[in-house]
Amino acid sequence: MEASFGGRRLRRVGVGKGGDRPGLETHVSIWERRRTKEVDIGGIGVGGDRPVVVQSMTNTDTADVAATVEQVAELARAGSELVRVTVNHEAAARAVPEIVARLHDLGLTTPIIGDFHYNGHILLKEHPDCASALAKYRINPGNVGSKRRDENFQEIVRIAVDHGKPVRIGVNWGSLDQQLLTQLMDENAARSHPKDAQAVLRDAIVESAIRSAELAEATGLGSDRIVLSAKVSEVPELIAVYRQLAPRSEHPLHLGLTEAGMGAKGIVATAAALSVLLIEGIGDTIRVSLTPRPGGDRTQEVRIAQQILQSLHIRSFEPQVTSCPGCGRTTSSFFQEMAEDIQGFIRDRMPEWKESFPGVEDLQVAVMGCVVNGPGESKHANLGISLPGTFEEPKAPVYVDGKHFTTLKGDGLVDEFKQILLDYIQRRYGQGGPVDQEVGASA
Ligand code: SF4
Repeated sequence: MEASFGGRRLRRVGVGKGGDRPGLETHVSIWERRRTKEVDIGGIGVGGDRPVVVQSMTNTDTADVAATVEQVAELARAGSELVRVTVNHEAAARAVPEIVARLHDLGLTTPIIGDFHYNGHILLKEHPDCASALAKYRINPGNVGSKRRDENFQEIVRIAVDHGKPVRIGVNWGSLDQQLLTQLMDENAARSHPKDAQAVLRDAIVESAIRSAELAEATGLGSDRIVLSAKVSEVPELIAVYRQLAPRSEHPLHLGLTEAGMGAKGIVATAAALSVLLIEGIGDTIRVSLTPRPGGDRTQEVRIAQQILQSLHIRSFEPQVTSCPGCGRTTSSFFQEMAEDIQGFIRDRMPEWKESFPGVEDLQVAVMGCVVNGPGESKHANLGISLPGTFEEPKAPVYVDGKHFTTLKGDGLVDEFKQILLDYIQRRYGQGGPVDQEVGASA
């Protein structure tokens, strides 16, 4: 199906995610992915036909090698496929090779990206081991100096060429190239029908990215070594900027709502912005820029990024548990506890299941609170249980691949359901023969 959207003509493609579940084919319409070059970042392909890549960034002092290694390892184990670290001073640049070496000793080959502002050209030049150990350099063209902006930018690009590294040209409206903005504002003011200031700001963000990419290529960097981003912190603006940027280049795009904020606000705003763009086929790697609570878990940003992609049926990372919100028909908290228990059970087992049961990440499980939507929703999952509501008979029908499988009762219900889940996974996804899977066995 062809349609015009956002000024671009795109083909809509159907993606069936029902697999071989009889009668359960769902049909998700997404816009055909924007065509881009593929950029190799330390062995991880971004753009082209590669899956949308999840990345994250540390918030440790990079000079603190032990703390940074620990956090990178946590992020990588949570599923971050690229991890960025700040390289803001001499000690940080000196620490980078040691960080990469220690990660390798831990068996972690996650590519490490260096985030540079103001002095990147100096640090990379004076620390070739750092330049060599990093898998990519992030350059903010608004933060490479004003008088020698182009020279400093080109110096970083030449180092990238010499070391065979890609760069991300990461424009951010909080540090936009002011000379360019002033130039575009002046040009706009001279027009007979000037645009509003917000539109000129968007133009400047996009122009900064495009012109910087052109300068990088003119300096000798291959076009397949450039990723672009153009981040702002407001959802409608981010969507507008990327819609404007996407048709103007073939470079892969890194998506992210910058300074997304804390908690629900940051999660919802990021999901809202990224979902619109990803559904339109825009975006090749994503980062969720949440502000963590003091001492909070940095890996949350990785799980949210994965969940955005999985909710859109773009990638699968772990089995999904569908559960209802509950209402006056479920006055006990039993089904909430069970839904949480099953979700935790799956998460704990996933490191092992990923190895033993390829494809298990596509599994859908439903834990429902009563008969109203319970059987129906359970039938739409691979495996579902419909718990009894307050005045219903105390029994819980279980559905497997849309058909009634058994009915559970009594105190052992949760463990019995987990065993049915394990048996199903082994039967459906097991390849190398039976694997010892018991509810009580450690994962
Ligand atoms: S499935 Fe039942 S318990 Fe859950 S929200 Fe619907 S009516 Fe309420």
